[in-house]
This record gives sequence, structure tokens and C-alpha cells, in this order.
Amino acid sequence: MPYTVPKLTDFSTTALDSAVRELVSALEEESKAVRSEAEWKIFHDRWTARKNGIRTQIGELWLNAAPKEAKREVGRRVNSIIEQIETTVKDTDDRRKNLEILKKARAAGIDAQIDQARRALELSERLDVTLPGIRRPIGAEHPVIKTMNEMIGVFRNLGYSVEEGPEIETDFYNFEALNFPPNHPARDTQDTLFIAGQESKPLRDRLLLRTHTSPVQIRTMQKMKPPVRVVCPGKVHRNDALDATHSPIFHQIEGLAVDTNITFCDLKGTLDHAMKAMFGSSVKTRFYPSFFPFTEPSADVQISCIFCDGKGVRDGAPCRNCKASGWIELLGCGMVDPNVYGFVDYDASKVSGFAFGMGVERIAILKYGVDDIQLFFQGDVRFLEQFG
Ligand SMILES: [Zn+2]
Repeated sequence: MPYTVPKLTDFSTTALDSAVRELVSALEEESKAVRSEAEWKIFHDRWTARKNGIRTQIGELWLNAAPKEAKREVGRRVNSIIEQIETTVKDTDDRRKNLEILKKARAAGIDAQIDQARRALELSERLDVTLPGIRRPIGAEHPVIKTMNEMIGVFRNLGYSVEEGPEIETDFYNFEALNFPPNHPARDTQDTLFIAGQESKPLRDRLLLRTHTSPVQIRTMQKMKPPVRVVCPGKVHRNDALDATHSPIFHQIEGLAVDTNITFCDLKGTLDHAMKAMFGSSVKTRFYPSFFPFTEPSADVQISCIFCDGKGVRDGAPCRNCKASGWIELLGCGMVDPNVYGFVDYDASKVSGFAFGMGVERIAILKYGVDDIQLFFQGDVRFLEQFG
């Protein structure tokens, strides 16, 4: 008995399921029976003919007959059946063609062609049209890399170039050349991850995971004479326990400008511009004294809170993001300490310059309102796809 589309009176999920199942199994049965072009034509018309084809009939007998409240569900199923009918009809044609090539090749006795045709046929028969298709998700830039690239873009527009360096550094580049005194806390094993088995080497040659991107500044000055304008982005490591704001791996961007007559005013102007480019033109910056071994004088830079517009109050309550102060600390900077020039053969009496550095995750956290730094490193696609 060939399949006929039943009139539906019951539109419950169970009844719909069983009607769909019956139709799909008839479709598969009939597809398998097709052997020639003539048979395929009949199969094609029976299922897809505009007038009275099964595809048309389910539209009339199922969808049009469905009561208002069932229309949506029936429509969804009818659409998916139509799609399946179209694919099956096309696949049946491919299989039928392969079958005919095989027949011809057999008749001609050409072994190579027989083999080839048989393989093609096996492939087309093995294709299960009821399996869901493969969807290839489109990748997106990681929020940390995205933020880093935006930051780099700001400085590129100011004429800076990008320099990179090794993540495994020597004590010399990570500390000594940057004017870190021998007992500076950053050298402590609590902060720095040292490579094991280095004890036989002199201290300056011992390897460690860089704790900042500043070694790249030294490497750049060693190979380049002033004027120098570079930004150094990259991954750094500290022996920090994981929590919402600390991670043993994070990213930094540092900048360095060395030339004749560079002053603290240039530093202030550059960073004020960069913060406005990053967070909007209404953002204010303020500098206050700080200490870094490789800059003198040094300053910490705060920006006016982007959540409460620097008011310290949001929606009548103290702003949590700036702890009601109206300011958020974002980066460190200063004029390059003349001692540093001694390590790279620059004449400290002729050149001057400034350096600055910031954590990329910290900026990404502010920009995207992320509340836990660990989310950046867990690789959870549900988190990452929001930035696509
Ligand atoms: Zn605030």
C-alpha cells in the first residue's frame, strides 16, 4: 500500500510525532527503491510536485487544517519535513546517477571505473539524511586580545611601533638593567617564578618567567638609538594565588618614548589622550607620586570613574566600582631613571624619556564589566561568545 498523507484531526504532540514519523519512514523507503532515472522522476513528482505533491498536501491537510493554537508547532514541523523532502530527493538523484555509472562501467568491464563508481555509491548510500547537519561556529577575538589591540591602535596612531620579547627572561633583563636593587621585594620568590636548576649560573644569567614586559624596553634600547617610541604588549607571570582580581598569568602593555627634550608634560599629554581614546572624551586623568625602580619621578595614574562619571555616587548609593572615591587607578608611569640609560649605552646628559605600563585584563574588566579575572582564562565558550 503506497503512503498517503492522512487528514489530521488530533493535533497533540503525540499525534503529530507519529504522523511525522510515518511520513519520514515512507520517504526513506521510497527513496531506497529508486533505481533508474524514470523511477526517480516519479519519486520526485510524487513528493515535490506543486500540484498534489506530498509536500503540497501536508501544507493543506496539516497546516491549513490546524487550529489556531497549534499552527505554530505544526508550521515548524511542516517546514522541517519540506526541507527533508528536498534533501532526500536530491540525494536520491545523486545515488541513482552513481548507480547508473556503475552499471555502465560493469557493462564496459572497466575495473578502475567500477571501483570508483562503487565507492561513490557507498558514500551516497551511507549518508543519513535524518542526522542533524554540522554547524561550524565562527570564532571571535578573545576580549583580552581585543582590548590589547585597541590599546596598541591608540599608540600606533601616535607614531609608536610594537616590540615583543621572550617570556623566559634572565635576571639581568627582568631586574638588574631596570635598576631593581638586590633586595627589592619583586625579586622575592613570593612574586617571581624562577626556573629550577639555575644555581650554578651567576645571578644575572639565571632564568625566570618575566614579571613585567619592561625587559622588552631594555632590549629595544640596546638595538635602537633614540628617538625611540615603542609599545610592548605581552604575557607576564607572577606567583599570585587565583582570586577575582589576581591571576598568575596576565597581560601588560608598556610604552617607552626616549628622545631629546622629552618632559613630564609629554607623558601627561600622551596618557591623557590614550585614556580618552579608550574610555571616552569626558574621562579625566590625575597623576600622583609613586615609586618604581626604573623611573624617577614616578606616578600612578587614575581616571575619573566611568561608572559614576567621577561623582562617587550612582543611583543614590555609593559607587562600588570606585569605592565612592570617583577615581579608578589604572596605570603606572614616570620619567626613565638616568641609571637605566647606563645599562643600554645612552647618554643620560643628552636624552630623556618616559615609560608607562598597564594591565590589559584590568582595562578589559572595566570596559566590559567583567567581575572575575578568571573568566578570561577558563575558555568557557558561553562567556567568550558574548564578545563575538
Ligand atoms: Zn564610581
